[in-house]
Amino acid sequence: MKLTDISYARAVMEKHGIAPQKRFGQNFLISENVVSRIADTPGREDFDIGIIEIGPGIGTLTQKLAERYKKVVSIEIDTTLLPVLEDTLSEYDNVKIISGDAMKTDFAELVRAEFDGMRVAVCANLPYYITSPVIMRLLETDGLFESVTVMIQKEVADRLVAAPATAEYGTITASCAYWADIEKVFNVSPANFIPPPKVTSSVIRMNIYKEPPVACENRENLFRVIRGAFAKRRKTLSNSLSGETNQHTKAEIEAVLVSLGYRADVRGETLGLSDFAKISDALDL
Ligand code: SAM
Repeated sequence: MKLTDISYARAVMEKHGIAPQKRFGQNFLISENVVSRIADTPGREDFDIGIIEIGPGIGTLTQKLAERYKKVVSIEIDTTLLPVLEDTLSEYDNVKIISGDAMKTDFAELVRAEFDGMRVAVCANLPYYITSPVIMRLLETDGLFESVTVMIQKEVADRLVAAPATAEYGTITASCAYWADIEKVFNVSPANFIPPPKVTSSVIRMNIYKEPPVACENRENLFRVIRGAFAKRRKTLSNSLSGETNQHTKAEIEAVLVSLGYRADVRGETLGLSDFAKISDALDL
């Protein structure tokens, strides 16, 4: 029996006396097609890799990952799911469950300890209450992962892949563009989960850069410039940035922008990552 069979998934939960918990963002997948497509995504070029999964739930995606990849390490915060996972994953000898919080996991240490020089990717149906902070933690690992495939709310996915000068474009778009080339793979409707979430989901694949796509003297300053640029969305860049720093007046910032070839009243939401890198090198915040 498959965990994507809704009556079997319910029977497994009943046997272990558990129900999906809202506080842990538990929406379990019940579509064979969706689970297989998510599991296939990290291995598109090469299945000869290790996988870290965040939030295995009752093990539905974990089973599909174990069937495809050399080794799977899954981190689950809800300890009541551990006996369920022991049961549903008993036939797989290449899966290790770690009881813990992905927001506190030292991923570099985990890769060192568990994957023995193997190339590693992340694949997860993320709990939606921590989507953005988890994505930032996974990206800020300096090329530790080959790729990161996650299912998230469609609305967040649309922001991650947005082009400059669109309503969805913002801090998270420009910041994540520093770490990865992000593609939307497919959308998933609420009917594919128990319980169904309130919103449509999307699977994205973040192809992690080996080298940052822009040269920039001070990475922290670049991220300050990006955050500052979107702090006051409907204002000009000089207005928004000067509100975020005591280092420069609005007039000084305008002079720097003009010296770089931008209009003094340029707006942050029209600029791409390479523009922010140029501005960051000329302006310490
Ligand atoms: N992978 C399963 C599936 O696709 O059916 C479950 C996905 S469910 C959306 C999210 C899972 O993440 C749940 O099992 C939940 O308990 C777990 N989780 C929530 N917060 C977590 C955290 N901080 N660290 C690790 N796991 C977490």
